[in-house]
Amino acid sequence: MERNIYSLQALEKINREWSATEKMPALFLGHGSPMNAIEENEFVQGFRDTATNLPRPRAILVVSAHWETRGTFVTAMEKPRTIHDFGGFPPELYAVEYPAPGSPELALLTKSIVDSAAVQLDDQQWGLDHGAWSVVKHLYPKADVPVIQMSIDYSQPAQYHYTLAKALNALRYKGILVVGSGNMVHNLRALAWQHLDEPGFAYDWALEASEKMKKAIVNGDHQTLIDFRAQGAAFDKAIPTPEHYLPLLYTLALQEKNEALRLFNDKPLGGSLTMTSLQIG
Ligand code: ZN
Repeated sequence: MERNIYSLQALEKINREWSATEKMPALFLGHGSPMNAIEENEFVQGFRDTATNLPRPRAILVVSAHWETRGTFVTAMEKPRTIHDFGGFPPELYAVEYPAPGSPELALLTKSIVDSAAVQLDDQQWGLDHGAWSVVKHLYPKADVPVIQMSIDYSQPAQYHYTLAKALNALRYKGILVVGSGNMVHNLRALAWQHLDEPGFAYDWALEASEKMKKAIVNGDHQTLIDFRAQGAAFDKAIPTPEHYLPLLYTLALQEKNEALRLFNDKPLGGSLTMTSLQIG
């Protein structure tokens, strides 16, 4: 899979050409329904407002809930395809293309700064799944900022993800916007479909988990969030499977000591989801 362009010389060239930048902020985005890609609502407005206050990134690395693999991969193709990884939605949604370029350079740089043996480059298989494009589309509608994805290794515990993400902090000083895309509270089985049109509706356990998560986030108590399986019944209901929650840990791991943090889109939806998003830096 790995071609010889991923050489030491190529890496040296990137390190030379990609000068140091001011530290980029990092984001966790609650992506919710794929329909957010084409609907107008307060959440997509929140994504757009956030983007207007960011320095323009050189490229974006997204850790999406929707790419789970055994082992950790990063996309390394020049032109990632738009993946419509959902079912039962209207044709307009399947017609959406987000033709942002990829960045084999960023993939290589990412592999080099993380434990390079543990990260594999994917220059053929994946692309951009809706966890990435449905939100990045609102940040950069012209699709003119390169985007790569990093997968979530489903065989690893939360601490592994948090530790791996710490290494990604170096990318912030190279002009890279790191985005975790998931939902802090995400239980689709419990979704109250009849209440989907009333943002703010939440089950008690969803609110309890959300409040506890936010308290830990604001207090910088990341260990509680890493130990999410030890936090009781509300957390267990809020996180029936970890893939939508783990991107939060990738973003939080990037928070440096005393670095500012801002919550936005902080609302439950459909009883069992929260759209709560955050910006670090
Ligand atoms: Zn999702």
